Amino acid sequence: MSRAGISRRAAIGLGAAGVVGMAGAVSLFDFFSKWRESEAPADIFKGDAPSGELWELWQKRGWVKEGRHYLKLGRNVQCKVCPNNCILEPGDRSHCRNRVNRDGTLYTLVYGNPCTFHVDPVEKKPLFHFLPGTQTFSLATSGCVFRCLNCQNWEISQKKPEETKDPRGEELRLRPPLPASLSLEQIARLSLFPEDAVAVTEALGCPSISYTYSEPTAFYEYTQDTCQAARERKLKNIVVSCGSIEDRAARDLYQFVDAAHVDLKGFDEDTYRKLNSGRLQPILNLLKTLKELGVWVEIINLVVPTYTDNLDTIRRMCAWIAKELGPDQPLHFSRFHPEHKLTHLAPTPVETLVKARDSARAEGLHYVYIGNVPGLEGVETTWCPNCKKAVIERDIFAVIHMNLTDGKCNFCGTKIAGVWKT
Ligand code: SF4
Repeated sequence: MSRAGISRRAAIGLGAAGVVGMAGAVSLFDFFSKWRESEAPADIFKGDAPSGELWELWQKRGWVKEGRHYLKLGRNVQCKVCPNNCILEPGDRSHCRNRVNRDGTLYTLVYGNPCTFHVDPVEKKPLFHFLPGTQTFSLATSGCVFRCLNCQNWEISQKKPEETKDPRGEELRLRPPLPASLSLEQIARLSLFPEDAVAVTEALGCPSISYTYSEPTAFYEYTQDTCQAARERKLKNIVVSCGSIEDRAARDLYQFVDAAHVDLKGFDEDTYRKLNSGRLQPILNLLKTLKELGVWVEIINLVVPTYTDNLDTIRRMCAWIAKELGPDQPLHFSRFHPEHKLTHLAPTPVETLVKARDSARAEGLHYVYIGNVPGLEGVETTWCPNCKKAVIERDIFAVIHMNLTDGKCNFCGTKIAGVWKT
């Protein structure tokens, strides 16, 4: 990683403590009593905020916006979007690389400037119980709140906005009529503001927008404003996330979200710290919050050899899901392939994935899938929990057969959990 002077969070001087973007004030007592408890392994990029001409160009493009959910601590700021709770002195850049303190104000650098976008089948997210067979307009900026050793998208998630975007040259906004193609240089330069993302999605005929590939929590304001604009146009919003987010920020964002794919990357704190540089408990909290809010959720568990392949731990995780979220909560086990910093590990043995699925079923979960194993028959099929017949058959990301009418099994009429109509 190219880092300019990383340090643990420094001691802070407190002048006045205020709260931005929150419904109520946070007292200093609460702040200090929760500080230690919420402390996560956040690395700050000291003195790395863009300045001079680069900052001016970034602002001119409209790619800078004041952050939401943060505390003003004199001239320092503390972000409260995710449990990293970064404390930034003026001139610092956050752990997720996307936020900076400029003169005592927290700004995001990733507003309206995705570094990648694509049209994907919704099954690729993966979501198997949400508008099956539809396409979703998918976008991402740089940055992530985690440092997963096995990240598949590290080329954007572990990059700063300035490493993926270029504010120089003529302004370019992506909006209808859509160009036939775009060069890499144009993609680096272009803007896609919330209203434009909605217009592009409609022009493409997609019923939903997905915030995905890197980590939407790290481009929180852009995600939230786009979700809101999409909701006004009756488009659905899909958030694909590691799930590491503070409760207030989550409730504020997910009120506009229809479906979420949440990675439950393991089921013990030690593994989360070593493999992902994160914590388990906030993800469990979010899963319960999303259930309370009525957001459709599918959970993905990547089975990484030597890290998250312990079958006793997997069984405990499945028991927790069944108890807290219910038997209709879909769970996808996904096969690990050597990536990023774990290229020395072999892919997950298929037998391990099959045993994991069997454990999940034994704990009472109705909809359990295995992904990333092409050719393994029936593992991506939705089976009716009552008559055990195939209600949705899939081949990789394509739906090949549906025996489902109005969300009910065609064979026995049992209701299948999910969102089946726009
Ligand atoms: S969203 Fe980014 S800036 Fe905010 S706490 Fe998390 S890592 Fe830090």
